[in-house]
Amino acid sequence: MIEGKCTKCGQSYWGWSLLNPRNQSCGKCGIALTIFEDGKKILDGYSPFTAEEYKLKSANPSLPETTTEKTPRKV
Ligand SMILES: [Zn+2]
Repeated sequence: MIEGKCTKCGQSYWGWSLLNPRNQSCGKCGIALTIFEDGKKILDGYSPFTAEEYKLKSANPSLPETTTEKTPRKV
């Protein structure tokens, strides 16, 4: 069984449709789900929001600090 979990709000989603990138983001927060199969993580979900953020960062590696401050990341 495929399970998708939102790391932000804790919402769980179930079903094979989670293997489709269109279904790999949380309906509440819009962030990417973490996808599990039989309790094991198989992949990181896709979210248009995180994808855009990643693209912006890699496209502009030398942005001034004031711009990057808008999207703080806690690891
Ligand atoms: Zn969520």
